[in-house]
Amino acid sequence: MSFGGIEAGGTRWNCAVGGDGPQPERVETFPTTTPAETIGRAVEFFAAVPDLEALGLGLFGPVDVRRDSARWGTITTTPKPGWRDVDVVGPLAEALGVPIALDTDVNAAAIGEWRHGAAQGLDTFVYVTVGTGIGGGAFANGRPVHGLLHPEIGHMLIPHDRVRDPFDGCCPYHGDCLEGLASGTAMRERWGRPAEEIDDSAAWDLEAEHLAHGLANLVLTLSAERIVLGGGVGRSPGLVERVRARLPETLAGYVDVPQLSTEVDTYLVPPALGEHSGVIGALDLARTAC
Ligand code: ZN
Repeated sequence: MSFGGIEAGGTRWNCAVGGDGPQPERVETFPTTTPAETIGRAVEFFAAVPDLEALGLGLFGPVDVRRDSARWGTITTTPKPGWRDVDVVGPLAEALGVPIALDTDVNAAAIGEWRHGAAQGLDTFVYVTVGTGIGGGAFANGRPVHGLLHPEIGHMLIPHDRVRDPFDGCCPYHGDCLEGLASGTAMRERWGRPAEEIDDSAAWDLEAEHLAHGLANLVLTLSAERIVLGGGVGRSPGLVERVRARLPETLAGYVDVPQLSTEVDTYLVPPALGEHSGVIGALDLARTAC
């Protein structure tokens, strides 16, 4: 028996087939282009799996994840051209004829880390990914947080000192929200080159400061027991260490626990599954769909 999982991000889709164990047996990655082409490639990949039992879909958003909604599985207000109001679950279900379990791409990554990685045994934690954009999957009381739709951690509003950082921010909705100030897109627009080519210490200090503001809000609102920081930019060498140094001072000792002072090294951690948290979590989702 085989399960399928898709980490369907706004930049690329990772499609995976797995069996009983957590690790995928086969993964195919392709860029997120038009909906028809991207969904078509996923259908092609899974149609060739003879004994596919179910599919787990971790989808970029905002997406309607309410199971009883008529728009379940439809992407809503994304700024990504061509993807607004696109039904993703419908065509996959029709073409593949298997049950589908849906969550956000970042909740799928959180599920992966919770079952097999850095968040095992925790009830309340957050997985934050900093890449082209910023997103986060939150768990509270042992379950992914949903609600109106789902949390949009990347679009938190944070303090912005325009004297030290005159960059207006790049979020098409909010300008200088967290994603607008600290995503890979923001770094590229502010400094004129991609994050992986930036070696200026002041640039990374500013990045760490913005992220620490965002993460402090997660500590304060969710009382997260741990924060996992992933994504292409989030895993940049030295960044986790810089944010660890900033986070306790941002909170100013108000949350008086060792995790936010002497034990911050085990509080803010990189994903144990590296870049595979999302696809491993999507396979876990599939196992809940049957
Ligand atoms: Zn925003």
